[in-house]
This record gives sequence, structure tokens and C-alpha cells, in this order.
Amino acid sequence: MTPSVDALAAGIRSGDRRSLARAITLVESTRDDDQALAAALLDDLVADAGGALRVGITGSPGVGKSTFIEAFGLHLVDEGHEVAVLAVDPSSQRTGGSILGDKTRMPGLASSPHAFIRPSPSGASLGGVARRTREALTLCEAFGHDVVIVETVGAGQAEGTVADLVDVFVLLVGPGGGDDLQGIKRGIMELADVVVVTKADGDLAGTARHTAADYRHALELLRPKAGADTAPVLACSSVARSGIAEVAATVVRLRSDWAASGRLAELRAGQATAWMWHDVEARLGDALRRSGGVRALAPELEARVADGSLSPTTAARRLVDAFWAETRGAPD
Ligand code: GDP
Repeated sequence: MTPSVDALAAGIRSGDRRSLARAITLVESTRDDDQALAAALLDDLVADAGGALRVGITGSPGVGKSTFIEAFGLHLVDEGHEVAVLAVDPSSQRTGGSILGDKTRMPGLASSPHAFIRPSPSGASLGGVARRTREALTLCEAFGHDVVIVETVGAGQAEGTVADLVDVFVLLVGPGGGDDLQGIKRGIMELADVVVVTKADGDLAGTARHTAADYRHALELLRPKAGADTAPVLACSSVARSGIAEVAATVVRLRSDWAASGRLAELRAGQATAWMWHDVEARLGDALRRSGGVRALAPELEARVADGSLSPTTAARRLVDAFWAETRGAPD
């Protein structure tokens, strides 16, 4: 049985991990009654949130994200921080078993009393996963985590969404040299606040240094405006644990510079209003797809759009008209 909202809020404020885990399960639930409880809980706790350093970590599969987050997270724990790791993976079909998966991916963090790892909620769209991750982030902050790491496991679209959740966005790249650079989408490079070349150890140490130089050059070309910030490029080895402290110091410094200059407040205000509109659109979309009038009309219109006998524009207008016709008659 789920405890009451008051009990969960009190548990989270007092640092009870079980309450935190249960509250995250509540925000991940798609049941209407759970959603209402989750909303009440978030309203209660939102004033306690906002204090963490929010770090986004992205990079292609195999680049070394798990190994980096383990080393980076443990470094922050050693410095006295309370660290949460949340994953955004819209492609994930993971179930409860993934918790074990994450424990093996990051064994040190998973067993630390100062770290909390939560795998990506499964079975939802990117928008759904991102909203739940944002809410989990609020809960972790209210709990007292002062660093929240948001890992993007997917590639592509998810990066922009994660950039909307965090203060500092870190792009991990492999020591692959220029060839790899071609493969990184320009959009992702533009989102990055810090670029980190991984696996700078052993035989790969020299390659990693060259790769870092290539990225510095590429980033300068990308942001030619005088006075504009260019993302710092660092190299590290998560296995040898070298360069990790420098990455952490860079992330912390950027965040405190932005807090001092007002850029952080501006960023977070923009993110919060963007989220409001994302939610409005998602709710309207859900209501529309649930509407009886729309559902009655949709199969025929879909078939006609598919066989080319009706234009998508006309079909869309008719579906929206059907939705309006139904909702106008409905009580508020
Ligand atoms: P992810 O898919 O991005 O999470 O990547 P992983 O963290 O699972 O790492 C992928 C592979 O790279 C694994 O075989 C790791 O052992 C290896 N790896 C990760 N970090 C390092 C590093 O710092 N040095 C070396 N030499 N290998 C690494």
C-alpha cells in the first residue's frame, strides 16, 4: 500500500531512501489516482527543491558513460556530496531487473549510502520519460541530493530534452580522432557545455590528447563570435581515475559562474516555462486521443489519408473540430 502524501513528504524531507524510492514509483505510475497523489506530493515538495547541481551526461553507446558516472559520482561522494543518478532512455524496455543492471554498471555508487541510482522508467514516450525524470529530480533535491546526474542512454532527440533538465551538459566522446568527430551531430556539439574525451589511458592516451585538440578546434569554429563562451574540452580516464577531478571542478566552476552572473536563474526560468508548455501540449494531446468523437472518426480518416483520398490537413482539421465539438459541451 502506498503511504499518504504527508507521510511520503515527511519521509523524503527526513532523508528516508525508501520514501524517496516509493515517491519516484508514484510519479512514474500512469494511473489517474496515483497521478493525483504525485501532483500533490510534488506541490508539497517543490519549495524544498532547486538546490542541486544538475549535470547532464550524454555520449554514444560504448563511449564509457557508465564507467565515467561511476568514477565521477564516487569522486563527488568523496568530496562530501550526496549524489543521485537518473537515466533517460526512451527506447528502454527495462523492467525491475534493470535495477540490478544499474548496480552492475555502477557497483561503487550502487553500494554507497551517499548515492542513489534510479534507472529510466520504461514503456513511455520521450516526453513521458523526461517528465517523470524531471519530477524524480525534484524529489531527489527535496530529499537532499546536492548533485543530480541525468544520463541519456538514447541517441538523438533525447539530448535536447535532457539539456532542458540540467544546468551543465557534458558530452562524452571516444578517443577516436577526427573520424569520430564527423559522426557527432552539430546540434549535440552546440548543446555541450563541456566536452570530455574518455579512455585517456594506456595506448589510447596519445590519441585522446589529439582528439581533445580536434574538438577544441571544431568548437572554436562552431562559436566564432568574439566573447562567446567556448565549451572547455578535457580528457580523462575513468578506469585510471585520472582527469576526473578536473572534470568535476570544471562543471562546478561553470555552474557557480553562471549562478553569479544570473545566467543560471535565466536558464532555469526558461526551462520551467518550456516544461509548462510541454505539459500543456502533452495533456491536450492525451485528452484529444481519449475523446470519443475523435476515436470514432479516426480509423476512417486514417485510412483515407493512407490511401491518398483525403489530405492530412483536412483530416487533422476534422479531428480537432470533433474534439472541440465534444469538449464545448463538457463541464469544466
Ligand atoms: P557506455 O555504453 O557509454 O555506458 O560505456 P561503458 O561505461 O559501458 O564502457 C564501454 C567500454 O569501454 C567498457 O568495456 C569499458 O570497460 C570501457 N571503458 C570505459 N571507460 C574506460 C576508460 O577510462 N579507459 C579504458 N581503457 N576503457 C574504458
